Amino acid sequence: MNIDPTCPICADDIETIDHLFWDCSVIKRVWSLAHQHGCVHPLPPQDGQASGHQLFTVYHHCKNPKDILKVAFLLWRIWKAQNAFVFKGDVVTLVRILIATKKGFAEWQIRTYMSEGFTSKGVFSSHPTSNFIVRWNAPSWICQT
Ligand SMILES: [Zn+2]
Repeated sequence: MNIDPTCPICADDIETIDHLFWDCSVIKRVWSLAHQHGCVHPLPPQDGQASGHQLFTVYHHCKNPKDILKVAFLLWRIWKAQNAFVFKGDVVTLVRILIATKKGFAEWQIRTYMSEGFTSKGVFSSHPTSNFIVRWNAPSWICQT
């Protein structure tokens, strides 16, 4: 099987993990937009050429623990947009990636807050409640031992 290793988004370089999430010229514009609009904080200049893994590690050690979550949501949305481009032909839209990132992060915050103690009666409980946790139950046709 012969697979073209060229990045399908920019067609300027080999598609590596670092290129896919950090170095691609299109994705760099996503990061720039995310920094401009406060979706994720820009990192201080790194010594030399930092790999994506190194950049992720730097974010991981940021003072605000939410920063790494925002970066994770942005990486996830970049991944989804690239897959939609490759498999469905959807155009990679920078604003759409950023809005989906912010929406996903906001939803995660609300669900986390609710699962950590906000009861259905509007009373915050110091004991986590299961009111907002959706549990998966195996269908009856699955053999349970
Ligand atoms: Zn590229």
